[in-house]
Amino acid sequence: MANFSAHLYGAAAVSSAASLGVYGLGWAGPELTQVLFFLGVAGGLLPDIDADGSAPVRGFFTLLGVVLGFLVSFALVGRLAIADLTLVWIGVFLLVRYGVFEAFARFTVHRGIWHSWLAAGFAGLAVANLAHHLLALPEWESWLAGAFVTLGYLTHLCLDELASVDLLGRRVKRSFGTALKPFSLASPGATAAMLAGVLALAWLSPALLPALETARERGVSAETLQARALGDLGWLAALGIGRD
Ligand SMILES: [Zn+2]
Repeated sequence: MANFSAHLYGAAAVSSAASLGVYGLGWAGPELTQVLFFLGVAGGLLPDIDADGSAPVRGFFTLLGVVLGFLVSFALVGRLAIADLTLVWIGVFLLVRYGVFEAFARFTVHRGIWHSWLAAGFAGLAVANLAHHLLALPEWESWLAGAFVTLGYLTHLCLDELASVDLLGRRVKRSFGTALKPFSLASPGATAAMLAGVLALAWLSPALLPALETARERGVSAETLQARALGDLGWLAALGIGRD
């Protein structure tokens, strides 16, 4: 498998290109663009949370507990007293850091279901839902956030798969085909659970129509995409290419 720093660099490269693209196209403002970049990088590190007990995984669950604890208590500000908010924060942290982590370590197989397209969709949908329902981000922004996590996630799966091919191309390691797969045939139970999770999140997900409406307002269409991506090709004309 590709190692941690390969995943970090790979996800950073893909995510910075994508976030600059999104910003250049006017689909997201500067603040959101920075958040999207980090979400893409996080998505690129996420699949290896199934590597039980390793230091980065423990660190990940600690961080997840802290961040989720903060977000949940933040969403409840004004409805609960500060003392209660603190209890909520601690409760969420303990639940994630010990409850979810232990369950995760017990029931996941490295390179099992978490290394699949299905899981990439799950992670993206989960973030789109969190962004919309917990952080009250509008639909379009929430979907962008989810899309960046999925993009980073798929980058990770591609890198794992690339790393399982000998660079000289003479030999394919046994791990080939265990990362970039639609679902996990080896564990039908985990696949069914993941599919159920994806369907539930899809059902709860931010509405598509308002998201598409915003997309239209921001000029997301095939023509503008082509025009913005290629510019007016003035530099080609300057080189004397493309003129009749
Ligand atoms: Zn991996």
